[in-house]
Amino acid sequence: MQDMKNTIPAVLISEVGPRDGLQSVKATMPTEAKKRWISALYEAGLREIEVASFVPAKLLPQMADAAEVVKHALTLPGLTVMALVPNLRGAQAAIEAGVHKLTIPVSASAAHSLANVRKTREEMVAQVRNIVALRNERAPRVLVEAGISTAFGCTIQGDVPQDEVVWLAAECVAAGVDDAGLSDTTGMANPAQVRRLFNKVRAAIGDKTGAAHMHNTRGLGLANCLAAYDVGVRTFDSSLGGLGGCPYAPGASGNVVTEDLVFMFEAMGVSTGVDLERLIAAREPLKAGLPGEPVYGMTPQAGLPKGWTTVRAGAARQGAGERNGSAA
Ligand code: ZN
Repeated sequence: MQDMKNTIPAVLISEVGPRDGLQSVKATMPTEAKKRWISALYEAGLREIEVASFVPAKLLPQMADAAEVVKHALTLPGLTVMALVPNLRGAQAAIEAGVHKLTIPVSASAAHSLANVRKTREEMVAQVRNIVALRNERAPRVLVEAGISTAFGCTIQGDVPQDEVVWLAAECVAAGVDDAGLSDTTGMANPAQVRRLFNKVRAAIGDKTGAAHMHNTRGLGLANCLAAYDVGVRTFDSSLGGLGGCPYAPGASGNVVTEDLVFMFEAMGVSTGVDLERLIAAREPLKAGLPGEPVYGMTPQAGLPKGWTTVRAGAARQGAGERNGSAA
């Protein structure tokens, strides 16, 4: 595995299970179990983890220990510790806790925005601007990301016009975010749409185009990630065991499964920096912390193919050859 340590991964897998996953299940994972799980994810090689959401404990009791979980995550060297913040107050608390990166959900769907945060999209952009101002003043090294949610469709209003998604991403960049990613909050995206929309967004905001955050609600999560990869996306959100969803988007459940996503990329020769065996082992602290909760994933069920290490290394060599060839 020494080749993993010496090379920069080709894609960044941003694990969102401790936030997106845990906030979508009814049970609350005990704080100590969260710490064990996050450490196991780190041991598997994940270097960006969304560890918590800074929201009132009254609304999401699962996240009441956010500051303590962040404190633990900060002890893991080289880990980018992320937290979701829905508003200025959450951003203040997250910055005080010491996070490296904030992610702000901004709904592209007008109806979802009102249901989710009781704000119009314009009001959300104003809020993003305030959060950026706070960051600039208090913690200039903290990164701020806008996650454009319901970018591919909305369970409340249905279609979300592409031009509105592009407009919103550009507004967030104008408000000062470091990048804007696209989230298929409701699991309605398809690969053709993913290619089209990421291309349009990139045409508008260039290298500030951020992560693909795909859900697997209709089984297209991996296909959508691959489509995003094909048009230049290099950061992918996913959740161990496919936990997650959105409490305000009924029927939308299940992030892309990290284990399957890592398998796909590694088998293609696209390095992730993640050790698949250790990643699968990280399901144990997840299951122990959430007894009885269903966890998903085809790769963990099927097991790694025979000779996986050799297969992976061969694919990586071929991939490197192809990249060198195309650069010439
Ligand atoms: Zn999500």
